[in-house]
Amino acid sequence: MDVDLSAHAQPTLAPPHYVLQTVSPAQGSSMPPIRHHISNTPSTHVLMDAANAAAPIQELQRKVQVLNNALHQTRDCCVICWVVHRTKIPPHQNVKEFFSTCFRKGSLQDMTGWLTMKKTIRLPPPLTYCFACGIPARPYRPFHHGDLMGTDQCLFNRWTILIVWTIWLRDDIRVKARNAFADMPERQRGNEVQSRNDLQGWYSRVRGEGCFYNGLEVAIWFCEQRAGGLL
Ligand SMILES: [Zn+2]
Ligand SMILES: [Zn+2]
Repeated sequence: MDVDLSAHAQPTLAPPHYVLQTVSPAQGSSMPPIRHHISNTPSTHVLMDAANAAAPIQELQRKVQVLNNALHQTRDCCVICWVVHRTKIPPHQNVKEFFSTCFRKGSLQDMTGWLTMKKTIRLPPPLTYCFACGIPARPYRPFHHGDLMGTDQCLFNRWTILIVWTIWLRDDIRVKARNAFADMPERQRGNEVQSRNDLQGWYSRVRGEGCFYNGLEVAIWFCEQRAGGLL
């Protein structure tokens, strides 16, 4: 008894990335239908797998572009004054008076808290960051950062933490930031040390795929808002 193997065996042998196409024989022919494997690669689910794998990388690359534009704008500038007043002026000399100078106030509560925080922050692997500014190193280093890294060489020393601390001190911007990052700690007036500890713990965590550490995410969020004219 003849068994048409092609009609029974092949569909189960066909790998999932192929479809079967049946070509009918010419009329009157005694030949059985011929089945060809037609490659339909990549199939939908392969495409979806690839898209799912690529999405976090593309998201990181999108954020690098936001950073790149912001670095281009703030090079050789006090980034605090850029955030608060949109002005581009050279960085101030006295580190401990950064915020009182930029906010144009004699004194601000916890205006040097960022110095304490900076000493203890350890940015999480596996990505690496410029120690001085907190901007990603390769393969996500923005072009405008340049290849000079480290405190004595980086052109954007303290960039990320100064933006985050400006947001932290400015009630109006912090409220908007906390709308975007629901788990960002609240600043509790009169409890500055505990608040700073909470922020410090949150700052270096990574919230998920396609994200840098939280501190940098907030800085990127601000730069996006500023570029969109929203802040
Ligand atoms: Zn300033
Ligand atoms: Zn740097």
